Amino acid sequence: MQLYANARNCQTPDWIYLSPHLDDAVFSCGGRIALQARMGVSVWVVTVFAGSPDGPLSDFALLLQTGWGLAERDAPAARREEDREALALLGATPVHGDFHDCIYRRSPDGHFLYPDWASLWGPIAPEEAALTEALAQRLGALPSSAVWVVPLGAGRHVDHRHLRQAAEMTGRACLYYEDYPYADDEEAVRSALGEGKWDAEVIFLDEAVLEAKTAAALCYRSQISSFWADEADLVDRFRAYAQRIGGGRPAERYWRRCG
Ligand SMILES: [Zn+2]
Repeated sequence: MQLYANARNCQTPDWIYLSPHLDDAVFSCGGRIALQARMGVSVWVVTVFAGSPDGPLSDFALLLQTGWGLAERDAPAARREEDREALALLGATPVHGDFHDCIYRRSPDGHFLYPDWASLWGPIAPEEAALTEALAQRLGALPSSAVWVVPLGAGRHVDHRHLRQAAEMTGRACLYYEDYPYADDEEAVRSALGEGKWDAEVIFLDEAVLEAKTAAALCYRSQISSFWADEADLVDRFRAYAQRIGGGRPAERYWRRCG
């Protein structure tokens, strides 16, 4: 399967973190990944919407890529490189899927499905009814023995919702992570959890692990200006969020359905 062809020669994973985009798993779970790598646990980070566009860009995609400093370039290729760098720091294996980020996706008649900012948080395009199923099929080809960690979809980004639905469609038991930085908004997390019953699991991070997570996050250079004023702001906000989650001690929080 194409989705993990580039990881076939790597050690079979004990844990698989499913990431919509080339940054989400590290921003959200980088501390736990670093802790696991330190203990010799084999970790893959599978980023599904990591493919390079195969057609023209929308004005919106070009605007975003300009903001990332990647105008007129193969932005996903540059971002895959950032991801390899970040995961090398943490000791995890990058796996890059070839699905396209929603900003590049078009309908069969060629119109862009997500042509502006508002559309990223709105309904999934009706033309994409088959995408979740196609994603689920690919995920089903991943090694079956690993623990899966999937995005809750906090913040409601359309690609995050697609991935959560696809993971759930496989019928696998999942552990869920809070999509950071969207999870900075507590209401976004509450809304993503919905009405179901959940158990929270808090993983404490020591200082070295928090620093490793932050250093890995800083590798996603193209994405920093989308969310933070500068590198120092990223470092401060990562720490503030981690300390809020841990009640003063840095932590990450995960969720598992119960009942
Ligand atoms: Zn994302």
